[in-house]
Amino acid sequence: MYKLLDSRYLSKEKFYDGFNNASDQHYTLLCFQLKEDSKTIFKLWGYAINDQKKSHAEELVIDEMEQYIAANISHDLGKCYNITYYLSYGPCSRCCRKIIDFHRLFNNVSIDIKMSKSYCFQLPEVQNGVKNLLKENISLTAMDKADFVTCFYSFVEGGHLATFEPWPDLESHYQKFSEGLQTLQVHAILLYAFILHFYSVLQDMIFRTI
Ligand SMILES: [Zn+2]
Repeated sequence: MYKLLDSRYLSKEKFYDGFNNASDQHYTLLCFQLKEDSKTIFKLWGYAINDQKKSHAEELVIDEMEQYIAANISHDLGKCYNITYYLSYGPCSRCCRKIIDFHRLFNNVSIDIKMSKSYCFQLPEVQNGVKNLLKENISLTAMDKADFVTCFYSFVEGGHLATFEPWPDLESHYQKFSEGLQTLQVHAILLYAFILHFYSVLQDMIFRTI
């Protein structure tokens, strides 16, 4: 089931079930927004749930974003666009590739991804996908309490009039997912530094042999 342009607010039950970082679900919930400078474009604001037989939530939304941006937004570099994703699970390797391909198409669009939980972080292909996102300057962070509050306030029906109620162990699970991401970030930086060093040594050797 994919909801983008119709019922755009989440129920409280869906929010708490999907985003609870201390329990697992069999689906991915994604809240998303596109801003032109600081103005929200409400045609691309809402939430999506993966279609379990076909597409991941990130793919569904990226396809909509790509069509809309290509047809509607300015490629004038004076304008800046920002996409924010609040994901109940971090992206898999396939979605990382799709997000990177999208990011390369639109160089005046920045992307911030906030994830409630990590997805299969022990798998090397997921780790590589996340490292590639970070190398591409796409922000990927774990959702802390302030992010849950912002997401609740922005995307839940009546959320701006209600109070976010944290669940037990929110903070300790945030710490765990945040540390996992920071470790991958350090690896990505070290790998990038190694590649730069390798090319500089190679260039030096070629130069000396000419
Ligand atoms: Zn995916």
